[in-house]
Amino acid sequence: MAACCEHTEHDPKAKSVAEALEVILAASQPISDQVMVSLEQGLGRVLATSVASPIDVPAWPNSAMDGYALRAGDGSGPRECIGSAFAGHPYEARVQEGQCVRIMTGAVLPQGADAVIPQELAYREGSMVRFHGDILPGANVRLPGEDLSQGNTALPEGTLLRPAHLAVLASLGISEIAVFRPLRVAFFSTGDELQPSGQPLGPGQIYDSNRPTLLAMLQRLGAETVDLGCIPDNPDQIRETLETARQAADMVITTGGVSVGEADHIAGLLEQMGSVHFWKMNMKPGRPLAFGHLGQASFFGLPGNPVSTMVTFYQFVRPAILKRMGSLGPWTSPVFRLPLATSVRKKPGRTDFQRGRLLPGENGWMVAPAGAQSSHILTGMAQADCFIVLPAESGALTAGSLVDVQILEGMV
Ligand code: AMP
Ligand code: MG
Repeated sequence: MAACCEHTEHDPKAKSVAEALEVILAASQPISDQVMVSLEQGLGRVLATSVASPIDVPAWPNSAMDGYALRAGDGSGPRECIGSAFAGHPYEARVQEGQCVRIMTGAVLPQGADAVIPQELAYREGSMVRFHGDILPGANVRLPGEDLSQGNTALPEGTLLRPAHLAVLASLGISEIAVFRPLRVAFFSTGDELQPSGQPLGPGQIYDSNRPTLLAMLQRLGAETVDLGCIPDNPDQIRETLETARQAADMVITTGGVSVGEADHIAGLLEQMGSVHFWKMNMKPGRPLAFGHLGQASFFGLPGNPVSTMVTFYQFVRPAILKRMGSLGPWTSPVFRLPLATSVRKKPGRTDFQRGRLLPGENGWMVAPAGAQSSHILTGMAQADCFIVLPAESGALTAGSLVDVQILEGMV
């Protein structure tokens, strides 16, 4: 039992991050519609069928170095150079005893040869070549099928295509692939105080930053987006927009109005229109969160504070989108342990997603909180390149303590 409730933020009715994620992922079913796209359009899409290699890669034994191709069994003596092999221009005749062929990287190994000696270890005098060091069979030879053999799975279904995957497909001569159609996501922000950018602010108004943020995060995930605008805290208008969203999309995301304030209508409307859980989350930021279904569409009601919107999107919506896109996963971000460069403040009770910055240190990378940590302070979020994830039970930590870190940016 906690010694004293004053020093903890724990709410026994609140849902933990792990519990919520489990429910969300279990209810998020992958879409199955496929489309054919060219390789050039494949980046960020998800393979709808596994791809078997139609050929051996490499297709021929070839040289890994610029040097001389020869028969290792002929011993360490000098060889007579009888010709050249270039990439794309094989040497046609057979290498016989005591002979060698000048060969470039990627050129087909001539018949008879079974090793390549790099040119740095070769000394040429006229047509004769002497070699330094051992001559071992198989040296510097790339074997057929070494990368992939014909018929083997090159990429499994569910591969989220990054540049290296496109490289593999290109190396197989494949120019068209079956991918899942993009997930269609409709979204809108709610709040009487919101004004779209480009308009002057009236008294008490703020600019709607959540909608552009959602658009950008959804674009990064390759979703097809339907922006339904900025809707006032008016139940009829919200109902109408939810109805449009439900018909337009596989997933509906709203921000704001998800708590129990007098202008918060999302909960009441969703209870009538769909099947939705309203969770008080045991996390910071991002306390209220709604998840469920609106007709066939999955529904997320995210809190309105801009940092809470982003944190809940990264922790819950992103994994659900990745799973629904048909991706094999992992759907959640990997977590690394790094030492803190400075101390951090925290009360036990809630999982804290502090905005952090990675810092190169003398003994490797460290992490420090980035800017102010309140849920309405966007500049801290903009300075951050990672989340520092502090478990619910953790209190304040001193510099040097190891903490969990999630990187915000994908590498490629
Ligand atoms: P709510 O979740 O509607 O109670 O809003 C919580 C806080 O977030 C309030 O200060 C709102 O003004 C602010 N907020 C809500 N929606 C947005 C938005 N789209 N852009 C920027 N701030 C917002
Ligand atoms: Mg509001």
